Amino acid sequence: MKAVVALGGNALTGRDRRADIQRQFDATRRVAASVARMIRNGWHIALTHGNGPQVGSLLLQQKMAAHEVPPMPLHVLGALSQGQIGYMVQQCLRNEFSTQGIRREIATIITQTLVDGNDDAFTNPTKPIGPLYSEEEAEAMKTLYPMGKVEGGWRILVASPRPASIVESGVIKELMERDVIVIAAGGGGIPVVRKGDELVGVDAVVDKDLASQKLASEIGAEILLILTDVPHVFLNYGKENERALRDVGSEEMEEYLREGHFPSGSMGPKVEAALNFLKNGGREAIIASIESAWDALEGNAGTHIHE
Ligand code: ADP
Ligand code: MG
Repeated sequence: MKAVVALGGNALTGRDRRADIQRQFDATRRVAASVARMIRNGWHIALTHGNGPQVGSLLLQQKMAAHEVPPMPLHVLGALSQGQIGYMVQQCLRNEFSTQGIRREIATIITQTLVDGNDDAFTNPTKPIGPLYSEEEAEAMKTLYPMGKVEGGWRILVASPRPASIVESGVIKELMERDVIVIAAGGGGIPVVRKGDELVGVDAVVDKDLASQKLASEIGAEILLILTDVPHVFLNYGKENERALRDVGSEEMEEYLREGHFPSGSMGPKVEAALNFLKNGGREAIIASIESAWDALEGNAGTHIHE
């Protein structure tokens, strides 16, 4: 069976957003152990992941070194972070496999996500990323990145357009069919738009859950497994009457989404991704905690969403 497994922001860094490389490798090793379990049980998987902490650090480095080295645009930083995280996952997985005697190849695909240049998101960038800047710094940064006023100062504010398609899904599918474990669509993929016959990178951020769904649908995966830092999707999350969802039909889930149980900055896109996946022929979408990945696939943990 084919699954796309989407790893949340904490999975590869731990909870500390400023985690040094040792901590990032420690977190990645834990993920590798549960991926190995899926592989041993015959799953074909593509791993996708967030890149918020890594791109945040890269942005800070661009800012601090701007007088020495030309700062790179956001789409290039997206590519850098995919490379960094891909390297960590490839190495940790390979080491885990060799301990367990598993013989499988692993490859990271630098992935571009096609978005529509006319997407409404571009007229109203809303997603703050990277460090806080002073008014003075923000003024200097404006030539490079779109800046916006937020509480406490200025931040880079980018558009979060919807993914239209995953440029590299053909090669990802081919590799999976040859039993290769693929790491792809990191950080939602590098957003690109079509200009005439060419693709051009844009400074935007595609939601990693929505991009993972696109990939899952385009490669014909049966399962979309979204791993995050909560064990279930909850109704009335954080309130006294909160209730964990375990097994839900898509119509019922759509109803809860409309009722406003899932905020757009966190659980909303996961639920939306799950529903889109089912509409596009997916068998089941699962939202679960990283620790429970295997139990969730076995049906014993997480929130399972089906037709
Ligand atoms: P990720 O990095 O995995 O994408 P997010 O922070 O974007 O993580 O989303 C997961 C977070 O969503 C949880 O930590 C939780 O605080 C929040 N959340 C909001 N609403 C809900 C809900 N209804 N059920 C469960 N978690 C929710
Ligand atoms: Mg998120």
